[in-house]
Amino acid sequence: MKILVQKFGGTSVSTEEKRKLVVSKVLNAKAEGFFPVVVVSAMGRKGDPYATDTLLSLIDDNFKVSNPLAIDLLMSCGETISTVIMCNALNNNQIEAIPLTGGQAGIITDCNYNNAAILNVDTKKILSILQKGKIPVVAGFQGKDENEYITTIGRGGSDVTAAILGAALNAMETQIYTDVDGIMTADPRIVSEATLIKKISYDEIFQFADQGAKVIHPRAVEISRKYNIPLVIKNTMNDCDGTVISNLGSEILENIITGITHMNNRVQIKICKNSDSSYDDIFDILAENLISLDLINVFPKENIFTIDEKDFTKFKNLLKKINMSYSFVKNCSKISIIGSKMRGIPGVMARILKALTREKIEVLQTADSHMTIWCLVETEFVEKAINALHREFKLG
Ligand code: ADP
Ligand code: MG
Repeated sequence: MKILVQKFGGTSVSTEEKRKLVVSKVLNAKAEGFFPVVVVSAMGRKGDPYATDTLLSLIDDNFKVSNPLAIDLLMSCGETISTVIMCNALNNNQIEAIPLTGGQAGIITDCNYNNAAILNVDTKKILSILQKGKIPVVAGFQGKDENEYITTIGRGGSDVTAAILGAALNAMETQIYTDVDGIMTADPRIVSEATLIKKISYDEIFQFADQGAKVIHPRAVEISRKYNIPLVIKNTMNDCDGTVISNLGSEILENIITGITHMNNRVQIKICKNSDSSYDDIFDILAENLISLDLINVFPKENIFTIDEKDFTKFKNLLKKINMSYSFVKNCSKISIIGSKMRGIPGVMARILKALTREKIEVLQTADSHMTIWCLVETEFVEKAINALHREFKLG
C-alpha cells in the first residue's frame, strides 16, 4: 500500500474555497494510486471562531494554570471540528472519509499536558480504514494518555502528528501543505525577494525550524530524519513542487548561505562578577529552575546570555532571591544565518557585520557553529537586518 500523509495547516482549511483545493490535492493523490491519510489543523488564526487561540481566550488565566487537563481538552477541539468539516468537503466529492481524534488514530502520549510527548502510535485503526478504501482524516496536535485523557503536543504540533504517522505507516512521503510555496531563503512576509529552496537536507532544515522559521516544526524534521521519510512542504493554493527535505540535501552548491531566520522575544542578560557568592553557580541555578539560555558567552569577569521573555519574570524573582545584580536589554531578536557550506570559509562573519553596520544596525552579540551564525539585534531593526543580510549573500 503506497501511503501518503497529507497535512493541511490552519489557513489551508479556513474557508470553503480553500477546502475545495484541499480536496483536489487528496483526489490527485488517489488518482496517482496513493492511499492518502489526511491530517488537519484547527481552522484559521486567532479571531476565527474555532482557532486554538480563540478557544483559549474563552477561559481565565488562573484556570489555565491550575487545570492543564481541561485546557488540553479545550485546545484539542479546533482540530477535532476541522476533521468533521473536512470529511464533509470530501464527502461532497464522493470520497468516503472517516474523522478521527488523535487518540482514535492511535497516537498515545505521556501525560505532560500542553506539551505531551508521543510514546507510541497504533496504526490499526488507520490501516483498517485505508483497507476499506476510505480516507482517514486525523486531528493534528493531539493524542491521548494512558488514562484516555486527551493531550496536546505543543503549538505547531500538527506537523509532528503528520511526521509521526508518516513514520509509523512507512509512508512514501509526508506532505505539509501550507500558505507559502515551500521553505524559502527567508520568511516571504519579511523579505519580498525570498526564493524557494527546492531541495534541502534534514540537518539544515532542522536548524531553520529550531531557530524560528515556523513553516515546519523541528520535531517533525527530527522524526522524518530518524525514519528516513521524505518531508515535502507545499502550497495548498497552487501546484508548485515545493521543498523536498531528505537525506540527499541540496543540489545547488554555489551558495554558502542557504537562508536566514529569526526568533523574537529574547532578553539579553549581563551578569558581572563582583562579591556575589553565587556567581559561579548561576548556570546551575537557572537550569534547576528550568530557564533555558542561549547565546551564552562566558568571560572571566562577566557572563552574557539570552533568555525567552516568557521566563523573564521568573528570572527577576530568582535573582532577587539570591541577591544578584544584572543588567538587561529587552525586545531583542536572534537572527540565524544558516548554511551547511559556510564551514571553513573565512570572512562570513565579517560580511555579516559589515552588512549590518552599513545599515547602522547595532549587533548586540554573536555566536557561531559549523552551520549557523547568530546575531542578536534589537527587534525594532530585525526586518531591516534580515533584508540587508539576504541582499549581502545574494539569496534573492
Ligand atoms: P500552517 O498554518 O500551514 O502550519 P504556519 O503559519 O505554521 O502555517 O507556517 C507558514 C508560515 O511560515 C508562512 O506563512 C511564513 O510566513 C512563515 N515562514 C517563516 N519562515 C519561513 C521560511 N523560511 N519559508 C517559508 N515560510 C516561512
Ligand atoms: Mg504550522
